[in-house]
Amino acid sequence: MTAHPGSLSAAIDAVKLDRLARVAVEVGLRLQPGQDLVMTAPMAALPLVRRIAEHAYKAGAGLVTPFFADEEITLARYRHGRSEGFDRAAGWLYEGMARAYEGNAARLAIVGENPMLLSGEDPEKVARANKANSIAYQPALKKIAGFDINWNIVAYPSLSWAKLVFPGEPDDVAVSKLAEAIFAASRVDGDDPVGAWKAHNAALHARMNWLNGKRFAALHYSGPGTDLTVGLADGHAWLGGASASKNGITCNPNIPTEEVFTTPHARRVEGHVSSTKPLSHQGTLIDGIQVRFEEGRIVEAKATRGAEVLNKVLDTDEGARRLGEVALVAHSSPISKSGLLFYNTLFDENAACHIALGQCYATCFVDGDTLTPEQIAAQGGNKSFIHIDWMIGSDRIDIDGIHADGRREPVMRKGEWA
Ligand code: ZN
Ligand code: ZN
Repeated sequence: MTAHPGSLSAAIDAVKLDRLARVAVEVGLRLQPGQDLVMTAPMAALPLVRRIAEHAYKAGAGLVTPFFADEEITLARYRHGRSEGFDRAAGWLYEGMARAYEGNAARLAIVGENPMLLSGEDPEKVARANKANSIAYQPALKKIAGFDINWNIVAYPSLSWAKLVFPGEPDDVAVSKLAEAIFAASRVDGDDPVGAWKAHNAALHARMNWLNGKRFAALHYSGPGTDLTVGLADGHAWLGGASASKNGITCNPNIPTEEVFTTPHARRVEGHVSSTKPLSHQGTLIDGIQVRFEEGRIVEAKATRGAEVLNKVLDTDEGARRLGEVALVAHSSPISKSGLLFYNTLFDENAACHIALGQCYATCFVDGDTLTPEQIAAQGGNKSFIHIDWMIGSDRIDIDGIHADGRREPVMRKGEWA
């Protein structure tokens, strides 16, 4: 079932893998001399973890501490673990991570696990374990979502994930194809990846500045199955590309990234919207989503596939039925052009305009780091244990910006910047 971690590494271009590690440290994290690094990764990503550790120490890292998860150990829990155990989570570990971030450690997460790993397991247990984990993770998540420190997410082409994206291909071909797709999307396929990121950040910042200058009160989306008005939070700020964390370091949290995004108003969303790509959520594929909003709240939710899981997600807490993010992505983005469904939000959200249910980003407000949680809520920021992005953009969607006085202005036409 599971290949030896080393046996497929020949299928992955070693030069590009090393460039990805360098970009993660120099662009993604901008790791500073003396700064510690906490890394989380699937076991299969060990070759990338090692490359990153080397680049981190070369950049002057203090202490690099990796934590690994293993798919077979996760499955062993579901197959043999005591039922009472599914309400537990490693809170002590997350508290320790939170303490490391308080001490200014940077955080790097490597994704690459099989998105469908838990698809055959008892959904009740999956839901309980996820809920327990989300709650226990709060101390660490607060520091990350609040941008207290510089952080970054990159991807590694593990076999189980590659087999899902390229079904029917031999193992080495699937891994090699996913590796090349990750490298292209992460802009490390050229000789000067750091320069490529500089240019890309400048392009994203130009979009961001244009939107921040407009100060739209709302966005209106129209297209097949979609007629949606998303009010923007009072004092919202658009972000995109590299941004400064509270410790003063300007980092690129997501690699890849193609989005400019901000905080919608949790109580000012009206109309209906249809998803344009399937959403892979903790082992379940949710497709054909159609929801209707009233005063910011989802009052009706349907899906052609995974409807039960979708409705369970919406019942997580009060904020799970409201929006916490709205993001604009050109339909011609490289990830969109690849035509692949990655079954992973890091990639799929960068293929299309999207919205997210749940928690908002405090950084997506003007002077966000000085606002209290109460002020953020009063300005329309949403609060939830979840943050789930799903895609609503395509080449058939038009988006208008609506000014406070009702004037409209085109933002996107047929999926491209107007
Ligand atoms: Zn997003
Ligand atoms: Zn998001």
